[in-house]
Amino acid sequence: MYASYVFSPPPRAWAAVHGSNDRFSVHRIYCVGRNYAAHVQEMGGDPSRELPIFFMKPADAIVGNGSDIPYPPHTQNLHHEVELVVAISKGGANIAAEDALSHVYGYAVGNDLTRRDLQAEAREKGQPWDTSKGFDNAAPMAAIHTVEQVGHPVDARIWLKVNDEIRQDANLSQLIWSVPEIIAELSTYYTLQQGDLIFTGTPDGVGPLVQGDVVTAGIYGLDTLQHRIVAGRE
Ligand code: MN
Repeated sequence: MYASYVFSPPPRAWAAVHGSNDRFSVHRIYCVGRNYAAHVQEMGGDPSRELPIFFMKPADAIVGNGSDIPYPPHTQNLHHEVELVVAISKGGANIAAEDALSHVYGYAVGNDLTRRDLQAEAREKGQPWDTSKGFDNAAPMAAIHTVEQVGHPVDARIWLKVNDEIRQDANLSQLIWSVPEIIAELSTYYTLQQGDLIFTGTPDGVGPLVQGDVVTAGIYGLDTLQHRIVAGRE
């Protein structure tokens, strides 16, 4: 009985795949917070007492590599957070950690752009993080490398520079929750689906971006992500 749409549904958000013209159709973007001890400390937390947490960004917050990203409204403190992104190829609920890697399609470099002032205010008031994390263009990411291309990176340098200055420089081996542990834990809260992306958390060294900055971010073995911050909307 329901036939047509009131308006044409927009195409699904997608991410590029390294070495291919195929697109990875994106279902949801999950994110892990507080997953590197030194970052928990720089945010004023205690990694021995606080477990990592989950939050989401809308799928259409994805921005491809090489983009100009307008400085977002409602912030004077836009921050960069370089992260390993996991792309899910097989869904499931209550996935065992031992089986979790069989659900992974591949990996990419992402930047969990954050309106830090709004996040600080939300934390203080016990309010949701949505406006600080889930805004337009908040999820720039480079192409996904398949597991066949890159394996499962566990000991690799993760870094980010702003213009020519290194701001973040750490190693994936410092993750508090490993990729299998993240998938196992996340799948107890949500039924994961093919097309989900998981931003796995940022190391220390997060900091502000301003108009004109060029952000370059990498994880050894994966495509480098680069984007620029340009003037915001009028
Ligand atoms: Mn993050």
